[in-house]
Amino acid sequence: MARRFDEKRLVIASHNSGKVREIADLLRPFAVEVVSAADLGLPEPEETGTTFAANSELKARAAAAGSGLPALADDSGLAVSALGGEPGVLSARWAGPDWDFGAAMARVHEALGNSPDRSARFVCVLTLAWPDGHVESFEGTVEGTIVWPPRGERGFGYDPIFVPNGHDVTFGEMDPDAKHRISHRAFAFRKLIGACFVPAHGRDAT
Ligand code: IMP
Repeated sequence: MARRFDEKRLVIASHNSGKVREIADLLRPFAVEVVSAADLGLPEPEETGTTFAANSELKARAAAAGSGLPALADDSGLAVSALGGEPGVLSARWAGPDWDFGAAMARVHEALGNSPDRSARFVCVLTLAWPDGHVESFEGTVEGTIVWPPRGERGFGYDPIFVPNGHDVTFGEMDPDAKHRISHRAFAFRKLIGACFVPAHGRDAT
């Protein structure tokens, strides 16, 4: 059984303001004070893992060890089928040192060329790490299609070129609350909440 989270404060182990905003939004219904790794001046660990799970865990562990508080990390990215899952764990790095996601989206578009397969998925692994070294990890995905040109000013990263299955609009055009209901991050988050934030007596009763 997953360890229950019953602390008052939580570090969001990210320097990405888009992710911090989305995770803080998702945590709003819970009585937990959130602070970001950037607010605490924690260094960003090098993402040396080759999987979302490995990078998520190393970021959560580093923030928990550096702050003495429980930490929640998100490692996520866009996996395009016809590109063999790229950019994948390199999603942020495709934007270069200037975080140019216009260029990163254009690179996806160019790499796809005339490929008839436009399918892609966003993947998110959330890891909750405690300062004593215990971790719990949860994965969520959302399937969709790559479109061109980019559409919408909302969201962040690759949102303007991703239309989730069953919808006509990109994540960049979608109302944030609607994205929070169906995103990879939302699915991982629901698993996390179900496993770690449910009161112990509630779980025992089932
Ligand atoms: P990392 O997890 O910090 O390595 O970075 C993940 C990268 O994946 C982000 O910088 C975005 O480029 C991309 N990404 C992850 N989640 C989303 C999302 O919800 N929308 C758009 N792009 C995302």
